[in-house]
Amino acid sequence: MRVLVLGSGGREHAIARALHRDPSVTALHCAPGNPGTAEIADNHTLDPTHPTAVVELAGRLRAGLVVIGPEAPLVAGVADALRAAGIPCFGPDKEAARIEGSKAFAKEVMASAKVPTAAARVCEDADEAAEALDEFGPPYVVKDDGLAAGKGVVVTDDRSAALDHAAACERVVIEDYLDGPEVSLFALCDGQEAVPLMPAQDFKRAYDNDAGPNTGGMGAYTPLPWIPEGLVDEVMATVVQPTVDELRRRETPYVGVLYAGLALTSKGLRVVEFNARFGDPETQVVLDRLATPLGGLLQACAIGGLSPDARLSWHPGAAVTVVIAAENYPASPVKGDVITGLEEAAQVPGAYVLHAGTQRDVEGNLVAAGGRVLNVVGTGPDVAAARIAAYEATAKIRLRGSHHRTDIALQASH
Ligand code: AMP
Repeated sequence: MRVLVLGSGGREHAIARALHRDPSVTALHCAPGNPGTAEIADNHTLDPTHPTAVVELAGRLRAGLVVIGPEAPLVAGVADALRAAGIPCFGPDKEAARIEGSKAFAKEVMASAKVPTAAARVCEDADEAAEALDEFGPPYVVKDDGLAAGKGVVVTDDRSAALDHAAACERVVIEDYLDGPEVSLFALCDGQEAVPLMPAQDFKRAYDNDAGPNTGGMGAYTPLPWIPEGLVDEVMATVVQPTVDELRRRETPYVGVLYAGLALTSKGLRVVEFNARFGDPETQVVLDRLATPLGGLLQACAIGGLSPDARLSWHPGAAVTVVIAAENYPASPVKGDVITGLEEAAQVPGAYVLHAGTQRDVEGNLVAAGGRVLNVVGTGPDVAAARIAAYEATAKIRLRGSHHRTDIALQASH
């Protein structure tokens, strides 16, 4: 099987790495990829949100499977264009991807499918928003209806800050505050059937103890030793399968990964959000543990015929990833500084480094080229051991002004 992966982040490096391990994958391409994927795949310069350009490249490479990493190509209709050209694609069509692209659409699908989520109101103007804020009360949760790369949500006790955010967006969803630990569960879907991966937890705030602004994610770990037994079955029965059935009923079958962001509240589990693609950085730890070859699974989703009884196999032990972010991330990350220490980091037993926002400069030096620069992955027999490996390797990496959280997976390590 010849595979093309779209995207250039740590998630795509992790996907490429898992595909590289699959003996059925005979050729591996990334577009645009990054210096990490260049070590295991052929990178191609391409705008992955350009449907015609993607179809042309996939055709030229004779790709039997295209895996779409980020949300932007999904929303741009790249999956639709590939399917129309007869090229199997892992990732939902534009219409089904609205489950992530529009919070209001996600709420409507959940209401039809009776999926448990926070009560919400869609507001078109400031007056409506003010009314909704008072209806739900603090802490206020205000979400931009459209895609905002993880930055469209404001959770605050400050009514005027909540109102300011609402005024800055065209349309907002205002909803009940959900209290309780969050879990990310990815389900692979072929339009009809769905198979869960291992739950993971990510850390969204920039600094230790969940301080600072929301980010794309500063670290993650799996497995979660503290989740109730039977949680995955419950999520599949009450959230994932009803959503897949509802989208199929609407004749927009969901093909790809359905990412359920869940809050375990005192009243039971609730969906915080859906995403239409693998989460970054949870993918880095989840795919590390997956023993079942990834290429075959994603192909089964793309062409149909995913077996609902497919019991995936997993490596024992745990994985922890720590994101190394550029100076001033998330506000305005500093780019261009040289990164060193990757070889030393890779020598730490159980650890390795995935690239995210990196580039080679004209002299061939590795330089920072994005907000989240590297993901250091540590593995071990349990979360505590994996965490030690991840942080030992993180300490070897040098990038002027960079920052990372020191408390990833700390609570689960005792
Ligand atoms: P979203 O983009 O919807 O995932 O929101 C980003 C983050 O905001 C989530 O991971 C939560 O930490 C937080 N959040 C979103 N919705 C709620 C809610 N209803 N109650 C509490 N926190 C929320």
